[in-house]
Amino acid sequence: MRFETKVIHIGQEPDPSTGAIVVPIYQTSTYVQEAPGKHKGYEYSRTQNPTRAALEKNIAALENGKYGLAFSSGMAAINTIMNLLKSGDHIVAEQDLYGGTHRLFTKLYTNYEIEFDFVDMTDLEKIRRVIKKNTKLLWLESPTNPLLKIIDIQAISKIAKENDCLLVVDNTFATPYFQQPINLGADIVVHSTSKYLGGHCDLIGGAIVTSNKEIYDQLAFYQNAVGGVPGPFDCWLVLRGIKTLTLRMERHNQNALAIARYLESHPKVRKVYYPGLPSHPQYELAKKQMRGFGGMVSFELKGDIEQVKKFVSSTQIISLAESLGGVESLIEHPATMTHSSIPKEERIKSGLSDELVRLSVGIEHQEDLIADLEKAFEVI
Ligand SMILES: *Cc1c(COP(=O)(O)O)cnc(C)c1O
Repeated sequence: MRFETKVIHIGQEPDPSTGAIVVPIYQTSTYVQEAPGKHKGYEYSRTQNPTRAALEKNIAALENGKYGLAFSSGMAAINTIMNLLKSGDHIVAEQDLYGGTHRLFTKLYTNYEIEFDFVDMTDLEKIRRVIKKNTKLLWLESPTNPLLKIIDIQAISKIAKENDCLLVVDNTFATPYFQQPINLGADIVVHSTSKYLGGHCDLIGGAIVTSNKEIYDQLAFYQNAVGGVPGPFDCWLVLRGIKTLTLRMERHNQNALAIARYLESHPKVRKVYYPGLPSHPQYELAKKQMRGFGGMVSFELKGDIEQVKKFVSSTQIISLAESLGGVESLIEHPATMTHSSIPKEERIKSGLSDELVRLSVGIEHQEDLIADLEKAFEVI
């Protein structure tokens, strides 16, 4: 079955008891048993819920993995992967990470004596240099956030195997429609379903996919033991969003490319970051590893931080807000918003300047979006 068909059908067979074509919202905490331990596979909704099971099966299929797990947020999913570690373990992570992931690693897990090295993973030698005996995980996002670097997942999966560590890929930005890390050798894929999978800025959720039974069993145990599970209604919303994922991603991609080209030719823009532009340093790798480039575009304005703040506050159709991946376009200032928890020195070192603006390009008409940006340029 092809991707476009999977999004609509996997895990979503008509309800056996009523024939309902849409998976029902099983809004229940517990399930009646015939005799102690004799039941239909469901005991308590922290452990299992049919609406959640449908979502888990669907996301696993989209990522071409065997097992899926759904969570109450992307961070709950990420935290559950961290439960695989013990104190004394070491992680090598890409330095350009989602701000919340960076915060969880450096502000919480360092208290549990887990060590981190953050490196620029476009340079494979840097990864090899920091791997140690106690390195357990390599952690990356591609495209990265917010600089949209493309990391070579296949090459890094080889390094992970050579060194007996697991490779985790946060595939939130690309979505399984554009990139399937398990096919490229990743052991674990993680998502914030709050973004493109949900797709409508109306829910918070997360997911994990793996094809490794042992890892799945451990993560499923932690999912139940810790309890960061999504409610059935949120699972239903994600399933509903996923049905149009292919259509939305095509339009996000077309609009983002048009806007990236417009920005690249704009006199008030210093630099544009978009993997679909031939000027992007990993353009060839992006073409090889992905089947589209996504809806995120970042760019540096010429001017000072006050002008940048004025610019992001001046668009009318494009809303000033954190988050991404919805049908509506959003603009934000990473230095003072999504990435403000990263110490300034570290932030600048990783290339994330005060003048950087991040756009989550929605599925509106691209000419309306470009006209909106043009008006904002006129006020600075
Ligand atoms: C949003 C996001 C997360 C965190 O997900 P939440 O659903 O907000 O908890 C993790 N990784 C990436 C790349 C994200 O964009």
